[in-house]
Amino acid sequence: MSSNPIDLRSDTVTRPTAAMRATMLAADLGDDVFGDDPSVNALQAKVAALLGKEAALFMPTGTQSNLAALMSHCERGDEYLVGQMAHTYRWEGGGAAVLGSIQPQPLAQGPDGTIALADIEANIKPDDAHFAKTRLLALENTWGGKVLPAAYVEQATALARRKGLATHLDGARLFNAAVASGVAPVEIARHFDSVSVCFSKGLGTPAGSALVGPKALISKAHRWRKMLGGGMRQAGVLAAAATHALDHHVERLADDHANARRLAEGLQGLPGVTVEMPQTNIVFVDLAPEKATGAVERLRAAGVLCTGLYRLRLATHLDVSADDIERAIRVLREHL
Ligand SMILES: *Cc1c(COP(=O)(O)O)cnc(C)c1O
Repeated sequence: MSSNPIDLRSDTVTRPTAAMRATMLAADLGDDVFGDDPSVNALQAKVAALLGKEAALFMPTGTQSNLAALMSHCERGDEYLVGQMAHTYRWEGGGAAVLGSIQPQPLAQGPDGTIALADIEANIKPDDAHFAKTRLLALENTWGGKVLPAAYVEQATALARRKGLATHLDGARLFNAAVASGVAPVEIARHFDSVSVCFSKGLGTPAGSALVGPKALISKAHRWRKMLGGGMRQAGVLAAAATHALDHHVERLADDHANARRLAEGLQGLPGVTVEMPQTNIVFVDLAPEKATGAVERLRAAGVLCTGLYRLRLATHLDVSADDIERAIRVLREHL
């Protein structure tokens, strides 16, 4: 492996910057289980305001944030409608079913992440003892690096509301969606009862997520967070990193998006390699079968880390410069 690999496996691999570490070191701390960590309280107030909700809760991970949200919206024997490939359904260990006794109703998604409105409507179960009670619609933005179309979000959440369902957004990369589409975060969050955001992805903190929503819901989630083992003590060390990230790392997501576009452009025209232009910071590279075998290993040996097999996934982030992208393009072109 080259001495200094370019790590494009995920936007979670970033190390906190020197300025972020300094903020963490200087953070005012208390015991957040007693509710008296000033840095956590400040972050929660900031995120709630930023996303236009009554309350926010700092969470160790996005997985726990989504799970606490689902468990706060739904009771045992309730059901939530969710995309077949959505993170909360597919990539979180089945937590809603295992720990929440919540039945997922996964539904097919289009290439842009949307679930057809007719499918949503057809899968809301009638009030009949045969069926689980359909309580919630969960969407995800960005989805596969794509911004969920605003008009769709408006229609899908309006349909859910008309049918008496609550709505949750897995907004792990909501800030990427906001920056890419030039829409304020509050505008994206507005359509949903609850929203989960991650600080540990593009925003570059070592850990941490937040769940926002109405006071009553967040108060339920607070109880679930404790039960799920997420009550952290001097969590202000991490909350300070998140506050720093909100102040300094949101607008620069545009750099990650530009780097992703440059990477995709640089890979055009290779036989057996198809690259779609990214909207945000995730580039998917489809490989013909003869190209795919051993590709990830060859790239790793040449100093570029990524994931996938027939479809490589490359994520740009805070620790990847424009120069790194040029180097990555050279390596990818040589080895694909
Ligand atoms: C990463 C991610 C999560 C979960 O976050 P963790 O902090 O890794 O648990 C949830 N949803 C989406 C879309 C994600 O990308």
